[in-house]
Amino acid sequence: MKTTLRTDLTVADICAGFEFSEAEGKGLFGLNGNLTIQPEYQRNYLYAQNNGEKEKAVMNSILKGYPIGLLYFNKPRADEDKYEILDGQQRVTSLGRYIKNLFAVEVDGHQQYFDSLAQNLREKILKTQLTIYICEGAENEIKAWFKTINIAGIPLNAQEILNSVYSGNFVTLAKEEFSNSQNSNLNVWKGYIKGNVLRQDFLRTALEWIVKSADDEKIGEYMSLHRWDKNISALKNNFNEIINWIEKVFTDTKSEMCGLEWGRLYETYHENKYDAVALAAEIDKLYKDEAVTNKRGIFEYVLGGEVKLLHIRFFEESTKKTVYARQTAKANEIEKSNCPLCAIGSNKNSKKIYKYSEMDADHVTAWSKGGATDIKNCEMLCKTHNRAKGNC
Ligand SMILES: [Zn+2]
Repeated sequence: MKTTLRTDLTVADICAGFEFSEAEGKGLFGLNGNLTIQPEYQRNYLYAQNNGEKEKAVMNSILKGYPIGLLYFNKPRADEDKYEILDGQQRVTSLGRYIKNLFAVEVDGHQQYFDSLAQNLREKILKTQLTIYICEGAENEIKAWFKTINIAGIPLNAQEILNSVYSGNFVTLAKEEFSNSQNSNLNVWKGYIKGNVLRQDFLRTALEWIVKSADDEKIGEYMSLHRWDKNISALKNNFNEIINWIEKVFTDTKSEMCGLEWGRLYETYHENKYDAVALAAEIDKLYKDEAVTNKRGIFEYVLGGEVKLLHIRFFEESTKKTVYARQTAKANEIEKSNCPLCAIGSNKNSKKIYKYSEMDADHVTAWSKGGATDIKNCEMLCKTHNRAKGNC
């Protein structure tokens, strides 16, 4: 079976000449009659059930610019530009039905049919490009494949679909390495990568790392390019290089390391030099620091120094109220602003008494400089000054 990726066809193209049979309850044609929406092996249209929640969801995705997923078309004859929908009939029918004003969706709080939408929204829908795989093969081959994607008890995930679309040398070798529960490296990998080896999560990660993207389309392009390769060295080397880097930089494996975006972390930081012993000591210290509420953020924090990854614990409401009351009482007494930074200024705010809601709590000594998140280290600042001070 041969497959070709097309991303040039728009909603307008697909819905040209769309027909919906009310009597049979199914979408019939698109692409000016060249697309059969409901071949004999397809299910009836189900997306109008439950008050149309699924067909509305399709349109909401399009309106928000979200992808609606891969569509698979079968091209039964090589010499004819005629297609049948292998997978995606429900979604295509939703598009056609909406454009034919057969249901409405909520836009900005109002139920809107296609014809009542603003011009720019109608344009947006019509110009949306769809991601379509055109499959060519013998009918029994197509049907067998369709069965595996749709009728199996558990629907195929994105990587499993890509594996069937690009089945060949590369997939066979890649599965032997990355989808093999007998592979002795698996225990190490499981420390960093979350998922199920048999559902292709490790192969998926290896591909995401090499194409530097989690996008199905990019992964599909890579798989298509390498489909008949006799080896998977590039994929394997890149994967091992990243695993080795993690092991070299982070000598203690912590459970929070599993599932981090290691591909991105490697790309961003692998050229920097790190002292693994010093990093391990810093990580231990951060694990013990109660102000650090996001333990998973520790690893990127020690690589790049971004404090906000740690979600430093903030002051309790009761602490803030106590400090506010104390500062305000003192400010009234000396006739100065209750924001200590405004009070030392010379403009009109130097005597301003802010309401509680106009102030924010601030660490007197920043957390990053060793300041604690307790009442002794808390001061209330007006929002302008708090924002200007910025860090925590
Ligand atoms: Zn101020």
